Amino acid sequence: MSQESEVAESLRLLEKDWSVDPLLRDFILGRILNVNDTTVVRDEVKFHIPYMPDAKKYVLWKCFWPDCHNCCERQGRLPLTDDDLITIGEGLKYAKVSDFIRKETVTATYASGGPDGTEAVMTTINLKRREDESEDEDGTRIPCRFLDVDGGCSMHPARPGVCYLYPFTTWTQNDGGAARIHATYQFTGDCPGFYLADGIDDMEREFADYSVIIRDYNIASTRTNRQSFGVATLGYRRLEGEEDKGR
Ligand code: SF4
Ligand code: SF4
Repeated sequence: MSQESEVAESLRLLEKDWSVDPLLRDFILGRILNVNDTTVVRDEVKFHIPYMPDAKKYVLWKCFWPDCHNCCERQGRLPLTDDDLITIGEGLKYAKVSDFIRKETVTATYASGGPDGTEAVMTTINLKRREDESEDEDGTRIPCRFLDVDGGCSMHPARPGVCYLYPFTTWTQNDGGAARIHATYQFTGDCPGFYLADGIDDMEREFADYSVIIRDYNIASTRTNRQSFGVATLGYRRLEGEEDKGR
């Protein structure tokens, strides 16, 4: 299935339980061509927020948990940082990280899309979402085995950093000679938390909370790649023509 049809299928399932604004649906499906990249700098993170000038709408986000746990019910991949390998390995009672990796993880290589359509090829160690998960199932959307009957995560708070990160994705790039952490949304079609707004003020709480989560995850992920637990084969290239609304 192509990425576009996967997103369409995810949206179709999502709309059984949640209403999705028709304009937002078209945007998520890539049918809105006139979209600007608005950047918002909070702490050490530069957020890229889509803005549709024709409709004069920003795409903002908030989480509906505990009413929603879609990201755990349709989990596609759980790449682990080196911190995760230790924390989760200990949480699952493994004395050695090597035993945890051998029994509880699968390695996968895949393309990870950037906000401007570029791609990096990633190789990562991923937590098995099902005890008998194989490498062939990487990227398929299945319920995570750690989702409990109340919609919580049975390993919380020691869950993978990538679970805290969703629905954001993050990368580092050189901005004027200095390394800068960037973040944008990933639109899989599974999250009902996206909404349209006239301004960005309603998302200040999320910017504050997620700038910390994103910074910590970005640092852990970069360190993981350096230690060869994961590999980014190609880097993202710099965005052009950004509008900067940072302070
Ligand atoms: S991030 Fe999105 S999909 Fe996950 S619980 Fe929150 S609203 Fe639901
Ligand atoms: S590890 Fe926990 S938070 Fe992450 S997908 Fe599984 S149930 Fe959800």
